[in-house]
Amino acid sequence: MARPGRILISEPELKARIGELGADLARDYGRGPSSPIVVGVLQGAFLFMADLVRATQIDLTTDFIGVVSYAGAQSSGHVRIVSDLSMSIEGRDVLVVEDIVDTGLTLTYLKRTLEARHPRSLRVCVLVDKVERRKVDVGLDYVGFTIPNVFVVGYGFDYEGLYRNLPYVAALEGE
Ligand code: 5GP
Repeated sequence: MARPGRILISEPELKARIGELGADLARDYGRGPSSPIVVGVLQGAFLFMADLVRATQIDLTTDFIGVVSYAGAQSSGHVRIVSDLSMSIEGRDVLVVEDIVDTGLTLTYLKRTLEARHPRSLRVCVLVDKVERRKVDVGLDYVGFTIPNVFVVGYGFDYEGLYRNLPYVAALEGE
């Protein structure tokens, strides 16, 4: 049975790096004309989002968007919005907070969808980047960690709905 195995990113490592990302956000958004809308992508980003917004000392608004990939034999990268934003992003500075970028297809589609709503700016902050799996070049503005091609669970990442609540990121083993 597949279980969480080797820890790839420990709790202290997450805390330290997210602290740095929070400082980066304060530097980049702190002097803007208006407060940004920080958009967490559900479900995977919920823990990262909660820690990231507490690590930055700027005025901001939070919102969430829930997406699922279209089912199919291979990833089309088309996402279906199952729970939309609660507010308009037109003319606003938007920061998308995503858990992981693998092929890049999902995020590319999501960015295109949000761009069509005419935000003033749109940036992306991702916790984990599996850069060697990339199929499309999707611009990432803030990256927490780059990891090799392993399937991870914990700290928001699930396997069949389980393990999101682990406080660290581990490799799934025994699949
Ligand atoms: P992409 O379109 O970039 O290939 O897919 C990104 C999505 O695939 C993520 O939002 C996530 O749902 C899923 N994913 C990719 N790699 C992993 C992984 O290592 N662990 C988990 N739990 N999900 C992953």
